[in-house]
Amino acid sequence: MTEVLPAAEALSRAVELLRAGEVVALPTETVYGLAGDATSGTAAARIFEAKGRPRFNPLIVHVSSMVMADEIAVFDPLSRKLAAAFWPGPLTLVLPLRPGSRVHPLVTADLGTVALRMPRGFASGLIAAFGRPLAAPSANSSGRVSATTAQAVVADLGDRIPLVVDGGATPVGLESTIVKVSDGRILLLRPGGIGADEIEAVAGVPLERGAKGVQAPGMLASHYAPGAAVRTDAASVRDGEALLAFGPRRIAGAERARAVLNLSPAGDLREAAANLFSHLHALDRSGAATIAVEPVPHAGLGEAINDRLARAAAPRDVPAVPE
Ligand code: AMP
Ligand code: MG
Repeated sequence: MTEVLPAAEALSRAVELLRAGEVVALPTETVYGLAGDATSGTAAARIFEAKGRPRFNPLIVHVSSMVMADEIAVFDPLSRKLAAAFWPGPLTLVLPLRPGSRVHPLVTADLGTVALRMPRGFASGLIAAFGRPLAAPSANSSGRVSATTAQAVVADLGDRIPLVVDGGATPVGLESTIVKVSDGRILLLRPGGIGADEIEAVAGVPLERGAKGVQAPGMLASHYAPGAAVRTDAASVRDGEALLAFGPRRIAGAERARAVLNLSPAGDLREAAANLFSHLHALDRSGAATIAVEPVPHAGLGEAINDRLARAAAPRDVPAVPE
């Protein structure tokens, strides 16, 4: 059963759990968040596991200072102006990921962009004390409404997470507004706690909505595809293929694979999720034309892992099932 601590007493316990790669539910000014170390693949995998998300859609990364934000993303004058006007506060900026940033690829869904926000209150103090950014989607099971009280979080996720920080009802009660800023343009990706008119007043340019060709996560079936072809649920390895393995036993012909990486030799889905993107990239670099992938079970996190593998294996440039 989960521990519930009032915000005034929760800081050191929360830091201790985050250092151990655990997740913590906490109040922000928008809704309760399910937070984990944004630089840890295990913590990110735990977030998806606790929410029961069927897909690895990208998570919002929360920071406590502009110094931390600059280490993660590349700001242009327009995004800097928006951050100066609305941070801390309920505005999330989708920006280019800074090369060499320590944010884990499972958090950004390997997109090359990062969704960044600076929250107020307990979350801000916790990030500063922890010294690292926190990845935090809303603290609810996939498909349910966001929680605005600690009691709602306990009722929904209580058996799956070690700590819920109780800061009372969240003041905004709506998710953050998400905008993508690039080339002097602002695209509204999700309406939320800050109105479009407020953003336009600061930016001096109109917000674009529903723009065609916006790269929202999961819009293309093959969005996450490596350069090599990907063959899922392989029963054997064919000549010249690289092998993405899972678990202790190998499929036939594994010894002739050009390169082999194992998502989790022990068959642990959390470890497999944390290794998924980096292993696909590494096998892509092996020069093999095709990556054969051993079957991965569909239970729990396996659903999201298989979803991502299926996208990597899909015919290229095919419009996908919308999110
Ligand atoms: P939640 O997980 O409920 O806090 O929602 C997070 C939202 O941020 C989702 O709609 C994501 O798709 C969106 N998001 C996060 N990162 C990105 C990104 N790099 N590009 C576009 N949207 C993003
Ligand atoms: Mg949500």
